[in-house]
Amino acid sequence: MSEFDFMAYGRQFPALNDEVVYLDSAATALKPEVVIAATEAFYRHDSGNVHRSQYAAAMALTVRYEQARRQVADWLNAPGPDSIVWTRGATESLNLVAQSYARPRLRPGDEIIVSEAEHHANLVPWLMVAQQTGAKVVKWPLAADLLPSPAGLARLLNDRTRMVAVSQMSNVTGGCPDLAAIIALVRRFPQAVIVLDGAQGAVHRPPDLIKADIDFYAFSGHKLYGPTGIGVLYGKPQLLAQMPPWQGGGKMLSAAAFEGFTPMAPPQRFEAGTPNIAGVIGLGAALDWLSRQDRDGAELYSVSLADLAQELLSALPGFRAFRCPGSSLLSFDFAGIHHQDIAMILAQEGIALRAGQHCAQPLMAALGVTGTLRASFAPYNTRRDVHRLAAAVEKALTLLRD
Ligand code: PMP
Repeated sequence: MSEFDFMAYGRQFPALNDEVVYLDSAATALKPEVVIAATEAFYRHDSGNVHRSQYAAAMALTVRYEQARRQVADWLNAPGPDSIVWTRGATESLNLVAQSYARPRLRPGDEIIVSEAEHHANLVPWLMVAQQTGAKVVKWPLAADLLPSPAGLARLLNDRTRMVAVSQMSNVTGGCPDLAAIIALVRRFPQAVIVLDGAQGAVHRPPDLIKADIDFYAFSGHKLYGPTGIGVLYGKPQLLAQMPPWQGGGKMLSAAAFEGFTPMAPPQRFEAGTPNIAGVIGLGAALDWLSRQDRDGAELYSVSLADLAQELLSALPGFRAFRCPGSSLLSFDFAGIHHQDIAMILAQEGIALRAGQHCAQPLMAALGVTGTLRASFAPYNTRRDVHRLAAAVEKALTLLRD
């Protein structure tokens, strides 16, 4: 067990309480006081829109808003703030890539390789653009260790491959594929780009985008202790520069007339309309806060909680885990019992976790289940939480098997 101070960490989260054991941080993380305070202060004290007005308050807000963009770029070690596009979340970021990068380029017969482990947010945008263009979505099957493997990818890559879409960390198994090997393989096909879904991974291990040579990276603020409704798309500057706007409106253009319009350069060209200013400020506060935390200690600690949960639940008959080692997520079920029945009883016992298909139906099919329960552990959870989970599951099994 690490020396991580989970008590001090947990004290920063006002939503934590004794009645409910919150084990759903993979769905959305609780917010630390500083993020709530920054968002509240914006609504309480700041006035004005960004990038529009000349008075002092609006100008100051624009500076803060753009500082947050720089913060995200530094945090990801991206080449610069212009490679960071604000979106509503990972879902919108991935749709932006599909509609603005892929749609104008894809031709009938082109291939988009998508791993079988993907959340629907990193599958459906590709199915939609395939329908629109005549391209084909190719399944990259999971290997026995529940990860999409480089060997499996090597068998699928070819001269028709245009995109490879994979997540940094699965929201079901917690598995993190071997990115370095995957990127090295994709780079052998210069016409192919790699799109990395960082919705789950960003909070655990933000990638060094330059070193990893990632083309597009998407994540959501709310899983990273930030507000909902704000997310990021990182794109390599040379790729963003080739992409047309996908939504039209205010502040994405430099000239407009009835004959047409001239889009601004990235990232503004992708940010039509009044943005989520409070979200950007809250995300900036979250990153600032995160940079002051013992992140390695926090990660080891969260994983140790998932390990303990797996150990305790393994003692119960019928337990099956769908978990990659070293993950802070534990997806599981019990043979012969429906996951929703267990979830109902857990809810009554004050255990907040997610049960269902986790927006990953192809992965559920690959695992041979109709759904799972998923306990996701964060650094504000405790060993007591794990024991409460195990006791509640035991009670549920007793009730359901009687
Ligand atoms: N990808 C993965 C792996 C996720 O877990 C999620 C959120 N559950 C998403 C994408 C989509 O994120 P959002 O709903 O915040 O856009």
